Amino acid sequence: MQDATPPPPADTPADPPPPAPSSDEQARAYESVHHRLLVARLLILMVVLALYSFSGASVDLATGLASYFGERWWWTNAAYLLISFLGYSALLFPLNWYSEHYIEHRYGLSRQDFNGWVKDHFKGLAIEAPLIVFFFSIIYALLHASPQSWWMWTALFYVFFVVLLSTVWPVWIMPLFHTFERLEPSPLTEAVEQFARRSGIEVLGVYKWGLEAKTSTANAALTGIGKTRRIILADTMLNHYSPAEIIAVLAHEVAHFKHGDLWRLMLMGSASAVAGFYVAHRLLHAWVGRLPGVDGVADIGGFPLFVFALFLFTLLVMPLSNAYSRRREYAADAYAVRATGSATDLTSALNKLAAQNLANKEPAPWIEFLLHSHPSIARRTAAAQRVAGTQQPTGH
Ligand SMILES: [Zn+2]
Repeated sequence: MQDATPPPPADTPADPPPPAPSSDEQARAYESVHHRLLVARLLILMVVLALYSFSGASVDLATGLASYFGERWWWTNAAYLLISFLGYSALLFPLNWYSEHYIEHRYGLSRQDFNGWVKDHFKGLAIEAPLIVFFFSIIYALLHASPQSWWMWTALFYVFFVVLLSTVWPVWIMPLFHTFERLEPSPLTEAVEQFARRSGIEVLGVYKWGLEAKTSTANAALTGIGKTRRIILADTMLNHYSPAEIIAVLAHEVAHFKHGDLWRLMLMGSASAVAGFYVAHRLLHAWVGRLPGVDGVADIGGFPLFVFALFLFTLLVMPLSNAYSRRREYAADAYAVRATGSATDLTSALNKLAAQNLANKEPAPWIEFLLHSHPSIARRTAAAQRVAGTQQPTGH
């Protein structure tokens, strides 16, 4: 399911041209733009946190709100979080426009116009704002109730929150950005459903995922839990991939499900959440006294410090969780090769996906190690061919 992340909301003129074969050079240029943007985002976050904290603005806001709300500290916290989130989003607006709209157009990935992008952007903020406010309000309530063991309760809450979000996201949130239409029965849906059945997976229908109106990138996924489980196939894939290639991509998704990868990744996420909140706990207690005007760890005025601690931890853990995720991707590819009997369909689908999504097929190994949750297409293709080779000796 980690493959189900919708591509960044893209934008632009109607009349979609067919996906043009992209050059490797273009993919490398696109990749390096995104790396520079990532570095910019990290630097901006650090600078903003430092300024917010050391200028006294954070404490001033918290104190002002506290004098307005008085005893009702949870209102103070919620208002502080909402104002801070909206302020940060406003600050990032130009950068988001540049990375999600301008760059996507320049590389011919987006088909959304500016108005469409703005609409999606604000829709996204309207969904994120209450989630962020709720998430950190609960954490600060736990900090307030139990300054010494809050990190354990918070890790528990975090796991619950993530499971809930990943359940409702494809069903409630994704349809707000893209259309989902149940596909009429056809030889393709028949083959897809038959494949799922043979793999022992019960699905409630095959859906067309309407990406084409907004982007030229493609994706497919097996989403939802229990009664909401469905197969979604991007229209950008339906139009340009052979049924055998679609089945191979689906087999990869089915493998994630059969291997319990969602639960494995959640378990791993939970373990790192416990560690991360504990680190934040130690840092908060060690540093909070040095921040003038912050009255203890549960004072929302110290929020920038809290975010900094979490951010630092996440940055350190990311290569680890990425390495684990890449291993699960190789395992899913191997399953797909065995299930479809050869590496041919999977590798041709992977190459099409890379071309369509402008993925660099051979990123620098250290970049892949640090940043990528998926192995590069070149390595995945090679690994798939090795699996096929051990399965049936290649005879030409
Ligand atoms: Zn995958």
